[in-house]
Amino acid sequence: MQKFIELKKDENILVSSMLESSLQPDAIYLPVQNGKIFIHQNDCVKIGEEVLEGVLSPISGTVKSLKRMHSLAGDGYYLEIANDFEERYLKEVGKRRKIKKEDILKVFNLDGMKNFVLNAIDDEIYVSTQNFYLYLYYDAFLELLDEIEQIFPDLNVYVCVKASSSENVSKLMSDLGMYPNIILKIVPDYYLLGRKQFLLSYLGLDVEKSFVLSAGEFYDIYNYLKRGRTKSDLLLTISGDACKNPMVIQVKIGTLLKDVVKEKIEILDGDICYFANGIMSGQEISLDSFVVTTDLQSLLIMKKKKEPKARKCIRCGLCSELCPFHLHPYLFGNPKYQHEKERCINCGLCSYICPVYIHFYKESEK
Ligand code: SF4
Ligand code: SF4
Repeated sequence: MQKFIELKKDENILVSSMLESSLQPDAIYLPVQNGKIFIHQNDCVKIGEEVLEGVLSPISGTVKSLKRMHSLAGDGYYLEIANDFEERYLKEVGKRRKIKKEDILKVFNLDGMKNFVLNAIDDEIYVSTQNFYLYLYYDAFLELLDEIEQIFPDLNVYVCVKASSSENVSKLMSDLGMYPNIILKIVPDYYLLGRKQFLLSYLGLDVEKSFVLSAGEFYDIYNYLKRGRTKSDLLLTISGDACKNPMVIQVKIGTLLKDVVKEKIEILDGDICYFANGIMSGQEISLDSFVVTTDLQSLLIMKKKKEPKARKCIRCGLCSELCPFHLHPYLFGNPKYQHEKERCINCGLCSYICPVYIHFYKESEK
């Protein structure tokens, strides 16, 4: 069985239980990434209109020019759309409707599946994004899970939360009596349980026969199936030891992250650094021209610490022991271990445990 650990963290960093929103950017930016551009400069667009191949506009407004920006999707050209603040939708947002089996099969491939797992677990410390999706849209989630269970009575429907997500745990424990076919799984605060393969292994569920969705993905599907709404915003945790007011914020896709921070966040004085998607498996970023894309879940604002100087590997083996695949990261520089390097999921556990402070992410960048 995989060895799981609980990460050390500063218990004083607490994310507010109130949702904030930053949904009125002056402009948004969408990565072009070699796809086709379907509109021209000065065209007016509506929310949900396809502006780039496979990319729908999250705001209504006027198409401007291409600008160089960066995000987790990469550096390059981004299409600027100036906001008209009118929130005009391409299609009317429908009333909540009862869904049918064929609607579900259009968005989930449930062929041969035995388990449907809603995963509301955040792996990274100081991040509460998935937990918040469940907390905010709790009734909607239970309603859709119940409908799925009724349409597919042979499917086992699970909701997975961390034991530390106290509000969700207590609500679910008191309400699931009304939904006897939804199975609640409360898991310990172990790192990596938020990832599908490790969660299923921990729960003893067959990977091939289990369909797993994060709470954020489930919310998008709920909106699409029940209300005919396309994705235009997301939840983002902004926290860290240099952030005075950690919170979860609802943000329009394509917003400049710097603008959200300036509008909502108080930062401690001193040297700080920014991490997108966590300090274990995320990456350090510069806020300048950084755009919120659909794969961004958190921004951690951390005090810059003087890192101990890495020493020579002493071959203690702790990194391999803790690595989920028992890889040998200290040998990744050797071409013979290229196949191992390719299996690395950049979870950061090897750097976390190394007694001589070797940081493998930095090492691999050399
Ligand atoms: S970062 Fe890669 S090598 Fe290190 S523990 Fe994670 S999977 Fe293993
Ligand atoms: S944990 Fe650090 S010192 Fe120990 S084997 Fe791995 S790289 Fe070397």
